[in-house]
Amino acid sequence: MSVISTAFALFVNNPHQRRHTTRSITTTIQKTLYHSSSSSNTNTNNNNNYDEQQRNNYDTGTFTSLFSSPPSKEEIDPGVVEGTDLRIVKYPHPCLRAKNDEVILPDEQEHISKLGKEMLKVMYAAEGVGLAAPQVGVNKRLMVYNPTGDSKKWLEEKILVNPKIVEFSEAKDEEMEGCLSFPQMNGEVNRSKWIKVEAMTPRGKKVKKKFKGWEAVIFQHEYDHLDGVVYIDRLADETREKVQPRLNELIEEYDGDDGAL
Ligand SMILES: [Zn+2]
Repeated sequence: MSVISTAFALFVNNPHQRRHTTRSITTTIQKTLYHSSSSSNTNTNNNNNYDEQQRNNYDTGTFTSLFSSPPSKEEIDPGVVEGTDLRIVKYPHPCLRAKNDEVILPDEQEHISKLGKEMLKVMYAAEGVGLAAPQVGVNKRLMVYNPTGDSKKWLEEKILVNPKIVEFSEAKDEEMEGCLSFPQMNGEVNRSKWIKVEAMTPRGKKVKKKFKGWEAVIFQHEYDHLDGVVYIDRLADETREKVQPRLNELIEEYDGDDGAL
């Protein structure tokens, strides 16, 4: 396992943590799931006040570490986000497994630009750093991300249309990942250390880049979504077994009868 753990779809750390670090394993674990409240260690919150505490934390922008807390409500679920009707769909929503259509440019330019911007809003509200269109119930080949997870650093934002990975490094790294469609769980995933990608911007500009490290992890994770692949598919058997109880909970919470595992 690499010393560095990345965790993106997930949850950037709070400003206190951000000051200290960027990507050591311990800090990223906090950053991953569930912000750790910097003012108090609320891990012992397994009582009836837990939900209320979470709500309060949400209001103040801090979150309880759930590593030693019982899984509870979606403390990271942004619910209704101002300026968009989009909502993050959760496993086992069928959109996560459906085929995603290529975006046709320039025909869909306007729609896709708007969608991309709204997806960024939802992503920031969920404290994430990446989001793919199927995660908001739109089966199109579109992804957005911002490696900093900071909406003020909008220069780092990417809205990529019809992305492709044209080359993968053989060298791999195992890092901790989570996903906004799989709240309250995470696991280590092995991915290429670097990738070469091609994509389009919504305005039809060609993008050709090599990504490594953090951005490569985010890109590979979001790209998987566009192929109907989710990170639980890439977990080692042992890790998968560990998270299966949480997956079972998500399956139970899903209220349609069209769930796709
Ligand atoms: Zn994801």
